[in-house]
Amino acid sequence: MPENTKKDIRSLSEEQLIALFADIGEPKFRAKQVHQWLWQKAVASFEQMTNLPKLLREKLEAQFEIREIEVVDEQISQDGTIKFGFRVFDGEFIEGVLIPKDDRMTACISSQVGCSLTCKFCATARLDRKRNLDFFEIFDQVVIIDRKARQHYGKPLSNIVYMGMGEPLLNYANVKRSIEHITSADGLGMSPKRITLSTVGISKMIKKMADDDLRINLAVSLHAPTNAKRGQIMPINDSNDIEGVVDALEYWHQKTGNRVTHEYVMLSHFNETEEDAKALAAICQRVPSKVNLIEYNPIDGGSYERTSGNRAMNFKRELEKHGVIANIRRSRGKDIDAACGQLANKKGG
Ligand code: SF4
Repeated sequence: MPENTKKDIRSLSEEQLIALFADIGEPKFRAKQVHQWLWQKAVASFEQMTNLPKLLREKLEAQFEIREIEVVDEQISQDGTIKFGFRVFDGEFIEGVLIPKDDRMTACISSQVGCSLTCKFCATARLDRKRNLDFFEIFDQVVIIDRKARQHYGKPLSNIVYMGMGEPLLNYANVKRSIEHITSADGLGMSPKRITLSTVGISKMIKKMADDDLRINLAVSLHAPTNAKRGQIMPINDSNDIEGVVDALEYWHQKTGNRVTHEYVMLSHFNETEEDAKALAAICQRVPSKVNLIEYNPIDGGSYERTSGNRAMNFKRELEKHGVIANIRRSRGKDIDAACGQLANKKGG
């Protein structure tokens, strides 16, 4: 890890910036200008803060830095999906993905370096969790992927999904702060309705998020409709079982009025029977929800296979018979390992 004594100025809140500026004899409006440069214009250096006196920029430079994450790898899929490898200040790597589809430009971003969970179908699970990302490292992924969307496709980002490496609700404080900067009028000003957080289902934190009134969308990786099956592919089910997750989702719905999306990866001869569909429909009837049936992307050395198109269609029909809205989600960016569950597929080990 490189020696680093300076602090990222973005770790200071606006109030802390104002207090700091008061200490060094600078007026409050200067602190507000700096805040704007950092979060609205997302500049990566003090030099770019052109409306500040040179002396002030030098003072800030002597004490702080702006550790923008660096793009070190960029791979474009045949379907236009672009996967980015980012290096963060301490030399660790994370990945983010730009998914262009119809009018949408969606960024899939990471919330941790690696992941502490061990979902059996996921490549990221093979990387140990090294650390949580700071909120400004999460924010940087959005800023960079937005610039790339404009550069490659001439359009800004329209949607953000917290669905990359890591479990966002195990890094909740930073995830929440990143969302605040992405959505606030003093930040990027995106609508929270355009943001989806995807979680394995940490019940306690789903309730906390409902209380915090973030107004974003929630997707839960259910992936199996019974504890017996879910426990086999998602060890987190031992501490956060389906009953607890559904309770938390009911609470979420009561507080926010929002519908929930259940993510369900279709694994051949594992979670695709008629009984599975019925059990899943029963869960969906408890909380207003829809189901995304996700085409599985086998990972190197993994033990699961993709469900055939026919079986996936039958499963969808069975759900619909019970009044459940279900969509089959085809994978994007498979050829570059950018699809769901594939991040770190080739780097992991
Ligand atoms: S699916 Fe998500 S929570 Fe599970 S191991 Fe992969 S990154 Fe972690």
